[in-house]
Amino acid sequence: MSSQKKVEINAILGEEFDRLLDRLGVRGEFEAGTYHCHICGDQVRANNVLLVLPLSENEVGFVCKKPGCIMSYKSNP
Ligand SMILES: [Zn+2]
Repeated sequence: MSSQKKVEINAILGEEFDRLLDRLGVRGEFEAGTYHCHICGDQVRANNVLLVLPLSENEVGFVCKKPGCIMSYKSNP
C-alpha cells in the first residue's frame, strides 16, 4: 500500500468535484487558476483536470486529461 492518498476524480464533475476541492481546501485557488498539471505544467481547470493528488497535509497536485500525462502518471506515479 502506498502511503500517498490518491483520489480519482475521472468523470466526477460539477458539484461533486467542487465538494472534493472544498474538502481539500483548494477550491478558491483552483478556480483562480493557481494549479498546474503535475506532469506537463499546463494550467488545470475544471474542464481539463483528470486526477487530484493529495501530496501532503497542505499540498495538493493535479494531473490533466492529456493522454501523455495519464500515461506518465500511471507508469511513474
Ligand atoms: Zn498534463
